[in-house]
Amino acid sequence: MKRAVMAKPLERAPLPSRLIPVNEALLAPNNSYGAPEFVRRGYYVDRPFRCVDCGKEEIWTGTQQKWWYEVAKGFAYSTAVRCRICRRKKRDQSAESRRIHLEGIERKKLARRKSAKERSS
Ligand SMILES: [Zn+2]
Repeated sequence: MKRAVMAKPLERAPLPSRLIPVNEALLAPNNSYGAPEFVRRGYYVDRPFRCVDCGKEEIWTGTQQKWWYEVAKGFAYSTAVRCRICRRKKRDQSAESRRIHLEGIERKKLARRKSAKERSS
């Protein structure tokens, strides 16, 4: 069995002050799947998870969950899979690849314009 390297796992039940109530009216529709665990429970609790990219253990806090499900309208059965650092890395990467992609399109447009000009002259 692997031992956690980082923070100790939560051994005790979360403190009442960390229970974040679920506002069902704000959730994205999820009827066809039935109510997820946190909806049946009525509040969010901190959820430890292991990052799929680097394997680091991190806590997905009740506050973050509330934001994800009720503000960002995240799918009710989606959960955090990446740590903060990997999430940022991934966001930067996709921004970077989008930039490269757009540059490629621009280059192609220029090349096309150029060859069209060459053909007409
Ligand atoms: Zn990570």
